[in-house]
Amino acid sequence: MMILEHAAVEPFFKNGFVIGCEDTREGVIVDPGDEVEQLLDAARHHRLAITSILLTHAHLDHVTGVGRAKAALGVPVWLHQADNFLYERVVQQGQMFGLPVDPQPPIDHFYHGEGPLRFGRYEVRVLHTPGHCPGGVCLAISKDTKEAKDTKDTKELPTLIVGDTLFAGSIGRTDLPGGDMETLLRSIREVLFSFPDDCVVWSGHGEPPTIGREKRTNPFLI
Ligand SMILES: [Zn+2]
Ligand SMILES: [Zn+2]
Repeated sequence: MMILEHAAVEPFFKNGFVIGCEDTREGVIVDPGDEVEQLLDAARHHRLAITSILLTHAHLDHVTGVGRAKAALGVPVWLHQADNFLYERVVQQGQMFGLPVDPQPPIDHFYHGEGPLRFGRYEVRVLHTPGHCPGGVCLAISKDTKEAKDTKDTKELPTLIVGDTLFAGSIGRTDLPGGDMETLLRSIREVLFSFPDDCVVWSGHGEPPTIGREKRTNPFLI
């Protein structure tokens, strides 16, 4: 089984993730925020060699731990280019909430299309899902197809890390700079709802729903 740990702390209770390959012990950190120390502890606990820091988008709650993670790990930071204007204004984002926030180190790589990026035996497809913000992406993580063919893992569903695109019973807010409701609903319907119903959706806040449950019950989408 793929290693997946998550943590969330006040004030935003935003989920950060550590995801790792159970065989090679390579992994990635996704959206390190104020819970970054817990994520680094989880990576150590699982003896993971973290190879990159992947961001779903650049709202401050998802990026305030980037500097600390990069200093600890020395690995590149990835973001969609369309969110770089938010990332570069993380200090001003903090001021909007009355919070002191440190500037973060520059982005090393912008995502190129869907990728895929890799860690260990897993590949990460990067799906552009704008609407909550212009550069929002969802990460679809699945076992390398070449590897999966030789094992019983073929039927394993992808793991979806969706940032603030979709929540259990809700969707991301669209009233922040660059947000747009129609665009967000289209991203969810066309990109996320193309995945099987049983796929678990790891949202940026709250408990993980499934694609099928949100298709049937999410008041913004039925
Ligand atoms: Zn957000
Ligand atoms: Zn958030």
